[in-house]
Amino acid sequence: MRGIAAAGAYVPRFRLTTDELAEAWGTSHASGIERKAVPAADEDALTMAVEAAERALSSDAVDRDDLTLAAVATTTTPAEEGELLPRLARALDLPRSVATATVGGHTAAGAEALSRALDAEGPALVVAADCPAGEPAEGDHPLGAGAAAFVVDDDAPATVTGTAWYTEETPGVRFRERGGEEVASLDVTTYQRNAIREAVTEAVSSLPVDPADADAASVHQPDGRFPYRATADLPVSNGAVAAGTVVDRIGDAGAATVPLGLLAALDADDTGSDEGDAESAGTSIAAFFGGGTAAAVAVGGGLAVEGIDDLEDGTTIDYASYLRERGYVVSGDVAGGGAHVSLPNWRRSLDQRYRLVAGVCPECGGVSFPPEGACQSCHSRIEFEEFEAPRTGTVRALTVIGQGGAPPEFAELQQRDGAYAVAIVELEAAAGRVRLPAQVTDADPADVDVGDEVRATVRRIYEQEGVPRYGVKFEPIESE
Ligand SMILES: [Zn+2]
Repeated sequence: MRGIAAAGAYVPRFRLTTDELAEAWGTSHASGIERKAVPAADEDALTMAVEAAERALSSDAVDRDDLTLAAVATTTTPAEEGELLPRLARALDLPRSVATATVGGHTAAGAEALSRALDAEGPALVVAADCPAGEPAEGDHPLGAGAAAFVVDDDAPATVTGTAWYTEETPGVRFRERGGEEVASLDVTTYQRNAIREAVTEAVSSLPVDPADADAASVHQPDGRFPYRATADLPVSNGAVAAGTVVDRIGDAGAATVPLGLLAALDADDTGSDEGDAESAGTSIAAFFGGGTAAAVAVGGGLAVEGIDDLEDGTTIDYASYLRERGYVVSGDVAGGGAHVSLPNWRRSLDQRYRLVAGVCPECGGVSFPPEGACQSCHSRIEFEEFEAPRTGTVRALTVIGQGGAPPEFAELQQRDGAYAVAIVELEAAAGRVRLPAQVTDADPADVDVGDEVRATVRRIYEQEGVPRYGVKFEPIESE
């Protein structure tokens, strides 16, 4: 039977409390949410998907070269058309032959992606990553962010014991106007609640497990109260709903919320053994709803989830910082004069930008980064022997780019995220030391020092010609 062989979670570092929201607006429309996760200015659905997937793929249970399918679920693709999955595959160095699926448009997208993976043969990667936005005075209040990644395979420690679907037209329940960025819904809450409760009840009742036996249920959770209401007609205990509810800590992360709730449940059910034992281990249920479709998934057993502690961690920011990070208050375009890198040249450098590919000189053994042009040690014109540098290293030099000091292509980032540090990072590889300049992200530049340990993370670098460019930045490794 197929199931979940490995999993990873990612939640952005920043948190905005509902108290802070209520203070700014006089009231909060985020019922049952204490704080919500806020993507940094250089994060989006793609960068969160890469982080969660890296964590899932760090498991010994899976070799990324064997993946046959990569499926992504999100309601907030960085671009209106295409480009999400090829970028994810490239950033993760997946096989170019991997089958791809991008599912979007509604909050049950994760169920559709998971379903594709369950039907596939061989190990399949599923990532749900989302950061919906709404009208700041009201609709945006509950909206958070996060990503959940699953590797689906045969003989997994967490076994999928059943899936069930129920679809019925429910016009006006959470939608976005064509071309619109803001989530909307017709404000007829009883109608919405009843429609969603009906669909969820039908789907969960069709599972081959007794919902009364579930010790965790991750149910469609646009706010903290909703999952309890949606299961009112089912014999699911409040304790089970609580065990699968994460919206109170990260906000409504769109297509990623229910998958993250499921991961929290599976991590809690981790028995520490490699062999799945669906008989003795608990049953978890995930109940998705989106766009008129409810989907239910039953899982027996559990597994340790890399990154699940992100649910509890985080750095609180104030409302003004929130508005800046989210780009609600950014002045107009900055005049030109910056470095322009053509798209073909950018594309040629992707292995360096995502995977830290460096080169060894066959003449002198010196290491060059990037591995192009002449050898940086002996200046010979040679063909480099390429290798992937480790993703953790040490800050060797540091400068802080303050107000007005940023090149134009980085000015928007600076307006949103404030001053940032640029470091020379040294990576200790078997072939030699790799040194490269890189931005330091997710850190107050005043807190970064020479000698600090840092790890690579894929982020938005800047946007040019309307195309977001992504690449490695480094974030501090927090000392335990
Ligand atoms: Zn050389």
